[in-house]
Amino acid sequence: MAVDSVLTSPLGPPACEKDAKALRFIEEMTRNADKVQENVLAEILSRNAQTEYLQRFKLTSSMDRETFKSKIPVITYEDLQPEIQRIANGDRSPILSAHPISEFLTSSGTSAGERKLMPTIKEELDRRQLLYSLLMPVMNLYVPGLDKGKGLYFLFVKSETKTPGGLLARPVLTSYYKSDHFKTRPYDPYNVYTSPNEAILCSDSFQSMYTQMLCGLYERQQVLRVGAVFASGLLRAIRFLQLNWKQLAHDIQTGSLNSKITDPSVRECAARILRPDPELADFVINECSKENWEKIITRIWPNTKYLDVIVTGAMAQYIPTLDYYSGGLPKACTMYASSECYFGLNLKPMSKPSEVSYTIMPNMAYFEFLPHGSNSQRFARDDQSPPKLVDLADVEFGKEYELVITTYSGLCRYRVGDILRVTGFHNSAPQFHFVRRKNVLLSIDSDKTDEAELQKAVENGSALLREYNTSVVEYTSYADTNTIPGHYVIYWELLVKDSTNSPNESVLNRCCLAMEESLNSVYRQGRVADNSIGPLEIRVVKNGSFEELMDYAISRGASINQYKVPRCVGFTPILELLDSRVVSAHFSPSLPHWTPERRL
Ligand code: AMP
Repeated sequence: MAVDSVLTSPLGPPACEKDAKALRFIEEMTRNADKVQENVLAEILSRNAQTEYLQRFKLTSSMDRETFKSKIPVITYEDLQPEIQRIANGDRSPILSAHPISEFLTSSGTSAGERKLMPTIKEELDRRQLLYSLLMPVMNLYVPGLDKGKGLYFLFVKSETKTPGGLLARPVLTSYYKSDHFKTRPYDPYNVYTSPNEAILCSDSFQSMYTQMLCGLYERQQVLRVGAVFASGLLRAIRFLQLNWKQLAHDIQTGSLNSKITDPSVRECAARILRPDPELADFVINECSKENWEKIITRIWPNTKYLDVIVTGAMAQYIPTLDYYSGGLPKACTMYASSECYFGLNLKPMSKPSEVSYTIMPNMAYFEFLPHGSNSQRFARDDQSPPKLVDLADVEFGKEYELVITTYSGLCRYRVGDILRVTGFHNSAPQFHFVRRKNVLLSIDSDKTDEAELQKAVENGSALLREYNTSVVEYTSYADTNTIPGHYVIYWELLVKDSTNSPNESVLNRCCLAMEESLNSVYRQGRVADNSIGPLEIRVVKNGSFEELMDYAISRGASINQYKVPRCVGFTPILELLDSRVVSAHFSPSLPHWTPERRL
């Protein structure tokens, strides 16, 4: 129920005083987007002017925006690699940031096969927390009564390592869940989780998931929203239930805990929740033993009002499966964030996935936008100078841009690699549709494989065919998400020069593994530690299949001269064509190598 009319907001009537404050903050930031941006840049420059990086460009603390733009280059991660390596090796001098680097956040984007290391400072946690604190006040505008129940969120920590200089390196969410901001968060009736902290913080993914699922089952009537960070994570939880419901039902039946749960703090917290509940156990058995799992989410958690998962960008491939398991519940994409910086939030979280727009919050960092797309490319060719970067308040409706950030942690004019399209404005702050991340060919979970990585993997995999006088003449790929977890499919057309010595089943299986071994560490972590990616598959297609693919493309208007084999396919008729030409399919026989330590 909305509180009294004094607490109104242009976004809608706030649910409580705390929400009113948060909504006021959003209004204030978005009304003054340009001014806030100017202040953010001035603050960043005044504190970081003496850093080695900015000194290199003779930057002074009182520099205005235009001088900043004319002096500081736009860069990528690779440009910063030497500085980042020095920080990782223990150089504590103010290289990028005047404030000490507190840890590295390991991004799912990779460089040379390893996660990128994003330096961060302590106070960034407060900024991330601030963005989190705005999410429920917005959600409460659209879904009333969320204080009457709980959220079943599958949240996980991942492994962390130390750099040679002793700084922690871990994913941003692991850093957040392990922080006091999360662990000792004050009670908020609108934001109560069924998962105990101990289960979320357990680094063993099986024990963590098992306990979170068990708690979610016990509290099934209280659950009002079901979520995970990304759609793939929620589907993994459903798959987990498919594989483990018998044991879960047994635990509920008897009030005893699966002996595979060995973490003492998890056992202790589970003991507080566990009790024999034969009725609930029968219910779980009855629902889960059915052949048909359609609407399983709403059958088990009947009061669920929406799913809280990101289904924009690469995650859009999971929408049909989520709809199947949830009977088409709304899917709320609440925020847009990265290891480098948390960017903003969705002010209409119940909108359809295709209509989701994120409002970048001008207080989070200084944002610039590199015009993207055919117009800007033509411009670059014509007069040889790159297109000018545009400020947050100056982006134009309908245009596409690549996001460039300058952060409090010391990234300056850093290209994030995301392409965004302006869909409108909230006050003077633009709203963006997430178009895609640049250069990503294949993605199942948080893995991102680009064309060069796939090419290298094919080279390494096909090297095993040499002794059989066989080569790969053409290939393409497909992210197959029909099964959970999804997996990479690589279509190979082979040239077998000596049919009496052609590669057998086991050789081709090993080719799959060799490809996996050469994929980046985020992929291999997904395979080994997170179980979020299934074994890579090679589908060998008949000779001439790729020529047929070309004929098909030409029949649809492609130019013969310019035709290039697509290195990734997703269009159903093309997949059907390739699948109808498959002569054999092969899977990786074992897990690739992965350890939390970075490969040197
Ligand atoms: P990471 O640094 O590993 O956390 O990955 C951050 C990247 O994930 C972003 O730069 C985006 O490419 C992607 N991402 C984050 N949030 C969203 C979202 N709401 N929708 C689509 N993609 C997202």
